[in-house]
Amino acid sequence: MTRLFAGTPWDRPPACEGCGRLEAECTCPPKVDEPVRIPPEKQTARLAVEKRPKGKVVTVVSGLDPDGNDLADLATRLKTACGTGGTLKDGQVELQGDHRDAAERALQKLGYKTKKR
Ligand SMILES: [Zn+2]
Repeated sequence: MTRLFAGTPWDRPPACEGCGRLEAECTCPPKVDEPVRIPPEKQTARLAVEKRPKGKVVTVVSGLDPDGNDLADLATRLKTACGTGGTLKDGQVELQGDHRDAAERALQKLGYKTKKR
């Protein structure tokens, strides 16, 4: 591996931020970068249909913690389950069209509780 700052003062061997020792000598427990996820069974996803300008209708899935869930992954699963396009916006999954039933089934399959409006 070539290091970007080879030969400069920044070219220090990687040291552990926890104990200051070289990473090879470090015995700290591995740092967990993964955010803590909330089990789906403990969450209620809210499903609603909203009208958008130009007569467009979207199914909005809300009520899920953006840090406690992999919402990007969830959006992909829901799009596949509903066979439609969609986006992730402000912590909510928006699916094009009224797909409350299919989205609800997909969410329940993943373990989420659901509330339909
Ligand atoms: Zn360490």
